[in-house]
Amino acid sequence: MFTTIISHQACSNHEPPQGHPECSQRLAAVLSALEAEEFAYLPRIEAPLATMDMLTRLHGRAHVDYILSQVPQTGTQALDADTHVSPGSGEAALRAAGAVAHGVELILTGQTRTVFCAVRPPGHHAEPDRAMGFCLFNNIGVGVHHARAMGLRRLAVVDFDVHHGNGTQRLAESDPDLFFASTHQWPLYPGTGRVEETGPAGNILNVPLKAGCDSDGFRQAFSDQILPALLAFAPEMIFISAGFDAHWRDPLGGLDLNERDFGWATAEVMNIADQCAKGRVLSSLEGGYDMDALARSTTHHVRALMRL
Ligand SMILES: [Zn+2]
Repeated sequence: MFTTIISHQACSNHEPPQGHPECSQRLAAVLSALEAEEFAYLPRIEAPLATMDMLTRLHGRAHVDYILSQVPQTGTQALDADTHVSPGSGEAALRAAGAVAHGVELILTGQTRTVFCAVRPPGHHAEPDRAMGFCLFNNIGVGVHHARAMGLRRLAVVDFDVHHGNGTQRLAESDPDLFFASTHQWPLYPGTGRVEETGPAGNILNVPLKAGCDSDGFRQAFSDQILPALLAFAPEMIFISAGFDAHWRDPLGGLDLNERDFGWATAEVMNIADQCAKGRVLSSLEGGYDMDALARSTTHHVRALMRL
């Protein structure tokens, strides 16, 4: 069984203002890491555009229309202090969300075991009615709802980005069959992700980590808290919000992880997926703002998805 890579060149055409950390070089770094010989035989698929139906399963129609209406003819348009759109942002955002939905289809029709979506803009901060934190649409959320439309019920999202995935948590708060588990630095943007935020149905697990937390601290938290809860929830498919900004080199985060930690965490999630979810794992790129760290972390992450 293969790991399939889903991406699209249009994801490079979302161009926040010069100097913005969420830049198109990020995708180039990820794709260049995936050009290594060890990944040469992996199927590569061009991401289709997400449809309005896919987006409005979780986003308000007004939000989708607003985002697309803000896309300028030239230059950039600010949606908030951090989040901008440029002429290529509409297609990039639709391809990023469409990649995850298509990945779900490939997995659920048995065409691949695991998927890595090399896309941007990222998605985990995007709330049903608000773009924020560099995110326009909640890509993973689109995948979750697409899996539902294809007949699955119990789903899980594991988010190891250094920032808390507030947008995905918002989805889980009103969806008891969606388990959301996150490790993240706290306090840090966006300010959510306290231990007490468990959701009304107790299906949310936040494991905040202090600045400076290293590999040992991360692995212990992941082993002691995330993995047992994930297995106990018994999802039918597991999504990974794969942000690599908890890497020690990252300029936006203050954790002290290295690329091997992301490979380890991915392999542990794969083990749980084997036990309850027929090995179904879909990962989508979130943050990661140091180009070397991003490339190396991608290598370790995709190796784990391939079970190398
Ligand atoms: Zn992040």
